[in-house]
Amino acid sequence: MTLDKLLMSEGRKMEKAPHLTFNLEAPGMNTGQLVVPGGANFEAISLPVFSLNKGEGPSLLITGGCHGDELERAIVAHRVIKWLPTAQTCGRIIIVPVLNPSAVRAWSRNTPEDGLNLNRVFPGRADGSVTERIADGVSRLLLPLVDIVFDLHSFGPTWDCIPSSLTHPIANADPMARTFRMAEAFKLPVTLLWEHDDTPGMFDTWAQSQGKVFVGTEFGGGSVGSDNLAIYETGVRNALITLGLVDGKAESPTHPCRTLETLSSDLIKSPARGIFEPRCSVL
Ligand SMILES: [Zn+2]
Repeated sequence: MTLDKLLMSEGRKMEKAPHLTFNLEAPGMNTGQLVVPGGANFEAISLPVFSLNKGEGPSLLITGGCHGDELERAIVAHRVIKWLPTAQTCGRIIIVPVLNPSAVRAWSRNTPEDGLNLNRVFPGRADGSVTERIADGVSRLLLPLVDIVFDLHSFGPTWDCIPSSLTHPIANADPMARTFRMAEAFKLPVTLLWEHDDTPGMFDTWAQSQGKVFVGTEFGGGSVGSDNLAIYETGVRNALITLGLVDGKAESPTHPCRTLETLSSDLIKSPARGIFEPRCSVL
């Protein structure tokens, strides 16, 4: 094989693998992209990645924009990026504000190209559809670099939720306790232990299987509200202070902090079609 053909062949191999356009190990603030290769029916996509590396200390990945109709978390991730370079004192923080750009553009929970829910396909597939390739890129290139993950969600246009940090039950007591303490560090109105029926492909269960502490958040619903955004941003700052990544004093929200447990058996489904009429606020 000629050198040209070899380089072209290597180039094609590179295009087929997810890769980063910058060195995540470099000190200080660095920005670049996680490039997810295209397939037969879709273009390659680039996810903006922000990396703040200040040496020894905890390592954290913050992700937003997993579901495209939950806009609060991308906004909060961008707010955090603005003040973090001067506030962070140690450790490493990687932020991906929008994991699923085409879903955000379409204001859709699932990815328009393949109809898949990104939070149901982890750890993804390198030769899969666009959603599976995003999960694969995050699983292989970002997750191994960190010990802790904050996955920022909100409740989208058709739900309503008290600002909450949450985790799901973990069989092993030690990671369960560490994860729940991390969730409580957000000091949000609710810290929620949310039982679900072994939903396959979730980011949290995959990250936990890799030994990571994983905390999700759920917020608001309907339209994006400034009050909820402020509570959300303060919650993330509180968690960063508890980790020792940022100096300061964690602030309690204006609401009392409660710990709740939601069991699968708590779900109530309407026996009939109709219009749901709320008679009280969820707060
Ligand atoms: Zn979500």
